[in-house]
Amino acid sequence: MSDRYVRVKIQIEDMKSLGEDAGREAADAEEQAPEGPPAASVFPDAPGVTVAAGDASRVPLTCKQRVKSRSTAGKDVQKHASDVPLHGSVVTARHLNRLGHERALHVRGTGKILRGQLEANGNYVNIHPSKNNQETRREDGFKLARKNRPVTVDMSKAKTSLEALKLSIKQLKWKEFPLGRRAPCDIYWHGVSFHDNEKIVSGQVNKFPGMIEMLRKINLSRAVRTMQELFPEEYDFYPRSWILPEECQQFSTQIRMVKENEPTLNPTFIVKPDSGSQGDGIYLIRDPSDLKLMAGSPAKQAVVQEYIQKPLLIDKLKFDIRLYVLLKSLEPLEIYIAKEGLTRFCTEPYQEPSQKNLSHVFMHLTNYSLNVHSGNFVHSDSQSTGSKRTLSSVLYRLAAKGVDIKKVWSDIIALVIKTAIAMVPELRVHYQADIPPGKPGPTCFQILGFDILLMKNLKPVLLEVNSNPSMRIEHEQEVATGVFEYVPSPVDEEVKVGVIRDTLRLMDPGRRKPSVSHLRAGGPEHGEEVPMEAETRDRSPEDGALPSLCLKQVYPKYTKQFNYLRLVERIAALFIRFLGVKGNMRLGPTAFRTFIRTCKLSNSNFSMASVDILYIDITRRWSGTTGESKEAGMGLQAFVEAFFHLAGRRFKSLPLREQVASLLELCEAQLESQTAVEERRSVSCSRAMPRPAKTHALGPGNRQLGSPAPLRRASSQEYRLHQRLIPRTLRANVEN
Ligand code: ADP
Repeated sequence: MSDRYVRVKIQIEDMKSLGEDAGREAADAEEQAPEGPPAASVFPDAPGVTVAAGDASRVPLTCKQRVKSRSTAGKDVQKHASDVPLHGSVVTARHLNRLGHERALHVRGTGKILRGQLEANGNYVNIHPSKNNQETRREDGFKLARKNRPVTVDMSKAKTSLEALKLSIKQLKWKEFPLGRRAPCDIYWHGVSFHDNEKIVSGQVNKFPGMIEMLRKINLSRAVRTMQELFPEEYDFYPRSWILPEECQQFSTQIRMVKENEPTLNPTFIVKPDSGSQGDGIYLIRDPSDLKLMAGSPAKQAVVQEYIQKPLLIDKLKFDIRLYVLLKSLEPLEIYIAKEGLTRFCTEPYQEPSQKNLSHVFMHLTNYSLNVHSGNFVHSDSQSTGSKRTLSSVLYRLAAKGVDIKKVWSDIIALVIKTAIAMVPELRVHYQADIPPGKPGPTCFQILGFDILLMKNLKPVLLEVNSNPSMRIEHEQEVATGVFEYVPSPVDEEVKVGVIRDTLRLMDPGRRKPSVSHLRAGGPEHGEEVPMEAETRDRSPEDGALPSLCLKQVYPKYTKQFNYLRLVERIAALFIRFLGVKGNMRLGPTAFRTFIRTCKLSNSNFSMASVDILYIDITRRWSGTTGESKEAGMGLQAFVEAFFHLAGRRFKSLPLREQVASLLELCEAQLESQTAVEERRSVSCSRAMPRPAKTHALGPGNRQLGSPAPLRRASSQEYRLHQRLIPRTLRANVEN
C-alpha cells in the first residue's frame, strides 16, 4: 500500500468521523468500545494534601472503603520510549505525485517532501524543502480535524491519568471518549506504553515506542555514559555509575584504588535495581563487599551509583525535584519544560551517610511512596509546606535566601536538553522499528518525569527519568485501620492538570505552528547561560481564555548551544540506514560489511577479514551484557562502540570526540556523493523509461541517509564552531 493511498484512506476516514461527529453527537455513548471501564488505580503516587479546592463539577474523587493493596500500589511505572523514522536521508524520488506540472519528491526516511516543477527536459527544478514524516503525518491526518468539530481524545487506556485528563479536556472543551471509540480519534492517551493499544494507525499517541526500555536504569546509564566519554564536562551532572553484575569487578577495583590513594575519602554508593521504581529494592553501601550479589542465584541487574552526600536541605530535610518534560517530537527534536513541578521531601532530618544511618530510608530516599508511610509525613493544604510542595514555592524560598535561582533554572534546562540528546539515538531506532517510514501509524509525544537533586552547591544532578510519571491527582488516606479513601490533592492537581492540558494544547492538530524562523532561532551560543525564561510564543488564537502555557520550549530554541552534542544521533542515523529490513533493530554481519564498504572504511591496513573479526568480537561481548536483548546481531550501543573503534583507528591522534566527528563527516560525505550519483542515474533512467523509483534497503542502491542534510550540516557546523573554542594544542592532524 503506498503512502499516498494510506494518507487518502486516513483522510476519508477522518471525513467520515467528522460527519459522524457533526450529525450524531447523541450516538457517541453507543460508539464507545465495549471494553469496560478503564483499569483503576494501579499506579498510585499521590501527594500529601487533603480536600479538593476546585471545580465543583469535577468527577467525585473519593473511592469509599477501598482496601489498599500495597504490593501493586503506586508503581511510578516504567519507562519506555521510542523514536522517529529518521532513517536514511537523501534518498529521493520515492514516488512522484502529479499536481499539474508540480511534483513532490519524498525524501525517504526523513519524510521530507521536496516540491518543484518538472521541466520539459525532465529535470527537476525549484525544489524547496517541506515537512518531515512526523509533521506530514500530523497535518495530513488532521487538516480537517479542527475546523468543524472539537478535538477527540480516546482515554480508554489512560489508567491513573484519567482524572487529570478529564479535567484538562473539560477546560479545553474537547471531546472525551472514556471507553474508546470505533472511529479514529485525534489523540490517544495511554497510561503505560505505546503498545497499550496496538490498533492505532493515525492520530497522535502520548507515548513513544521503546521509551520504557530506554529509560530503565541500566540503559539510561549506558546512554549517558556514552555521552560522558565524548563530552565529559558537559555530562558531569550524572553520578558515576557501574552496571551490575557485569561491572562488579571493575567497581570493586576502582573503589579500592580510590580509597588507597585518598584514605580520607569515604564514599557511599546507592544500589538501584534495573527495573525498580518508587525506591523498591534500593540500598546504600560503603564498601563493594556489601553488594548483595547472592551466590547461587542469578545476579540481580542493577546500577550502583555514587551517592550524593551533600544535598541541598530545606528545613534540614533532603528533597528532590520532579520536573515534567514534554518530548514533543524526535525529528525535529522538540523539547518543552514545565515551569511548575513538584518537590518531594524526606521525613527524617538529613545526616551525611554513616554506617549507623545507611538503612534510614526516610532520611536518604525522597520517594513519596516511601515517605508517605512515615509518621512524619505532612499532607498539607498549602503548596509551599508539607512533604510535597510545588517547585515554584521552593525556588521562591531559595530566592528569598539570596540563591541565584536563574542560574539554577538555567542549569536544569541544560541538564534536561543534554539528557534528551543522550536518549534520542536509541529512541530513533525503536521508532523506525515500530513505525517504519511508509507504514501507517500515529505520531508520538510523551510527558517524561525528570527526577533531579540539587547539591548543596546548587548544582543539579540527574537521578533518573520516568517514562510514566504519576499523573494522579488524588492521594490515599487511611480512614480506619486498613481502609483507605482517595482524596483530592491540590498540589498534584495544580501541577499535573496544567501539564496535561498544555501538552494537549501543544499537540492540538489545529494549532498554528510557530514560524520556522522562530523555531530555528537557536538561542544563545555555546557557553552562554540559558535564560531563566525560555521565551516561547505561548499563546495561540486557539487558546481563547486559557492561561498562558506552562510548558516552555527549550529545543530547538537553544539549538545553537547544544546541537554540537548530537554526534551519537548521527551514528544512529547511519545504523538505521544500514538496518535494511523494516522493523529490524539489529545489524547483521552482511549489513555491517556493507556499511564499511559503502563508507569506504576498509583499506590495506584494515581488511574485510578484520572487519568481520571486529563485528564478531563486539557483538559477542554485547550479547553477554546486562539488559541487552538476546536477539542475534549488533544493537545500536554495540554499533556505537564499533564506530568509536573505527574512528580511533582512522584518526589516531585526535581526542575521541574529534575522531568520531571526523569519521561521521567522512561517512556522511561518502553517502551523500553516492546518493548524488544515484539521483543523476535515476533521473536519466526515468527519462528513458518512466517508472516508480525502487528503494533498496541496503548497499549502494540504498538512497537513505541517516539524518536529513540540514541537520547534519548544522550539527557539523556547530561542532566545528565548538572546536574553535578548544585550545589548538588539543587538535592534531588527521591520520589514516
Ligand atoms: P526509583 O526509581 O526507585 O525511585 P531513584 O533513582 O529515583 O529510584 O532513587 C530513589 C531515591 O533515592 C531518589 O528519589 C533519591 O532521593 C535517592 N537517590 C537516588 N540516587 C541518588 C544518588 N546518586 N545520590 C543521592 N540520592 C540518590
